[in-house]
Amino acid sequence: MSSSAMSCEGTGWRGRLIAEGANALYLHVPFCVQKCAYCDFASWATPRGDTLLARYAQALGKQVEEASRLGMLDHCETLYVGGGTPSLLGENLGGLLRVVGSCAPELSELTCEANPESLSGTLLDDLVEAGCTRLSMGVQSLCDGELSELGRVHDAARARDRVVAALAHGLNVSCDLMCAIPLQTAESWQSTLEGIVSLGVDHVSVYPLQIEEGTPLGLKVGDEEPAWNSPDVQADRMTQAQAVLEGNGFRRYEVASYARSPQSECRHNKAYWTGKPYLGLGTGAASMLTREGYLRLMEVCPQLGPLPECMSRVRLKVLSSRQEIAEDPQLPSLKFEEEFLTERQAAAEDLMLGARLASGLDAGLVAYARDLLGQSVDETLARLVREGYLSDALAPTEKGWLLGNELYGELWDLADGCETLVRRSS
Ligand code: SF4
Repeated sequence: MSSSAMSCEGTGWRGRLIAEGANALYLHVPFCVQKCAYCDFASWATPRGDTLLARYAQALGKQVEEASRLGMLDHCETLYVGGGTPSLLGENLGGLLRVVGSCAPELSELTCEANPESLSGTLLDDLVEAGCTRLSMGVQSLCDGELSELGRVHDAARARDRVVAALAHGLNVSCDLMCAIPLQTAESWQSTLEGIVSLGVDHVSVYPLQIEEGTPLGLKVGDEEPAWNSPDVQADRMTQAQAVLEGNGFRRYEVASYARSPQSECRHNKAYWTGKPYLGLGTGAASMLTREGYLRLMEVCPQLGPLPECMSRVRLKVLSSRQEIAEDPQLPSLKFEEEFLTERQAAAEDLMLGARLASGLDAGLVAYARDLLGQSVDETLARLVREGYLSDALAPTEKGWLLGNELYGELWDLADGCETLVRRSS
């Protein structure tokens, strides 16, 4: 088997460091009906009739075809169309899924993010017909007052109705919920959690609200930490979510992710946490490629600079704007930020990401990291077990879940604290 035909499975942990393509494809759709009060994501309020929506979707389709011609999607198993609000693309979203489906022969999980206000019955019909298997719904809360404080467009009734409709279409449905938000109480959070569970979804993601500088919410709260978002409240709400969801048959498989069964876990997100290479297209989208994957992309992207010596992993971020992408979709025209990691840094990053998973650190990864980084790996892991962040099986404990940033920081420090190399292409 030539290396170009090699998938990242079957060659041990090292295999994923030499795969030439991507195991996962992310497409970013940067359009929303309106900007939520807390949002600092790459998304812009865009009228539904704006021709930019169709032109941007077609441009992404062309980039997917170019990546496919390079062989980068030969072993791509999952697609995630995120945003922004992909459902705002309407019929263009199904068209994009069809393009990806024709370019990635091993694709078996196709997720689209959707928001209740733009998820019509016609769109659901088309998504199913186009091969969509999962829908990730931005519900956030089932309390109208809380939704209004967040600046969301939908209300609770619309969210419930659209989740039920998506389930009736046979899709695996995941709901995003947000805690430690204005007006939320333990009782209202309980009612949101129980309400979502009662709808019959198989997957729930739970996040504490991060108040970002410069957003309307950030400007409103100023420098004071609001009581509703304190670290204690965040921890209480996450613990409450765990109790309700686990009490209703869900299992927490990642710090923020719960699934009713292993089959309903999000394989795409698991690729991010298990060192598998991924390609991200669309404004602001991130990729993580091996040396070989980067060299392959360089074949058509002369704007990417030469690969620095001793670098084994590249993170790319698309810097081109949505208008630039729509007007000139060719891969050679894209602007990227490039970040290079040494093999040591890549191993430390994989340990850090692996510690998000309930299954704990993969034995193959630990052995590989030990070979590369020496006895500091065992010393650090032993200390994290002693201090209660990890169990003996090297899985996160309650403390590890709640104080994740400390745990991840300790593992990243195994890279010896060296800075990653960052540069921009144009
Ligand atoms: S729907 Fe999501 S991406 Fe769009 S503005 Fe709201 S939080 Fe941001």
